[in-house]
Amino acid sequence: MPLELLPRDLEPYRRGNAGIDWVHRFDSGRPGPHVLVNALTHGNEFCGMVAATHLLDEGIRPRIGTLTVSFANVEAYRSFDPARPFDSRQLVHNLNRIWSDAWLDGAEDSPELRRARELRPVVAAADHVLDLHSTAQDVQPFWVYPAYARNGSAALAIGRPAVHLVMPQGLGSGTPLIQHGLHGTEAHHGVALVAECGQHFRRETGALAIEVALDFLAHFGLIGRDRPAASAPAQRFELLQTWVVQDPSFRFVRPLVGFETFDEGELIATDGAREVRAPCARCTVLMPTRAPIVGREGVYLARPID
Ligand SMILES: [Zn+2]
Repeated sequence: MPLELLPRDLEPYRRGNAGIDWVHRFDSGRPGPHVLVNALTHGNEFCGMVAATHLLDEGIRPRIGTLTVSFANVEAYRSFDPARPFDSRQLVHNLNRIWSDAWLDGAEDSPELRRARELRPVVAAADHVLDLHSTAQDVQPFWVYPAYARNGSAALAIGRPAVHLVMPQGLGSGTPLIQHGLHGTEAHHGVALVAECGQHFRRETGALAIEVALDFLAHFGLIGRDRPAASAPAQRFELLQTWVVQDPSFRFVRPLVGFETFDEGELIATDGAREVRAPCARCTVLMPTRAPIVGREGVYLARPID
């Protein structure tokens, strides 16, 4: 896979105006929602950086409400080595699994925990959150969000990506940024979505992240924008199980990239003496790991909805 997207120097974006490095806030001075567009929760997922720098470079300003643009794990991003392009996802902790009060208020320390603690008020202050991600494997883009009706209707209305991964029980392996605090509660009014925009290093992944970010802002009225023509019909999946790798011998029964389907009970992977079997008919695998690491996610098992 050629590296079409590469890091650029983010030092010019370090000094924001919110009192926190790499956070930029624009208040329209008029009532309206506070929308956060967040990039680089994972350090090697460059599409978010492409979209966030686009918003800043183009001088996109909200006509109502407030726009905040943030770059999350810049420290991991800066560790990027083209010879080992997957290593800069995180330095110590996965910045997208530590958004519970237990982690944030806990005694442990790491670059990611420090950054999450810095960004905590930024995430908490937003009504609506778009967290831009990409995938290791070259598969179609998709939304990921907790199964609150407000999230599903916003993602459907925005229209692209057309594929949705809905999480009725959360992620099962930690608290993601989009479920921090009130964002992770049924009664909250705000929408919080992850967009997985394609493969990490493809140019078109960055291009889609820009479009999704602009669509997200337009959906909440912060900018004007012609709506794209109706895209592909939505295809939704419900996350049933997150398999966390238990043993270094973890391996899939055949090479997987994501969106392959398995019959109920069919063997998907072995993990030491354990077997990963499809828990439902037409079980669909998402985000299969390309290099299993004990304690990290091996594969997401989902069921098609509708
Ligand atoms: Zn990610």
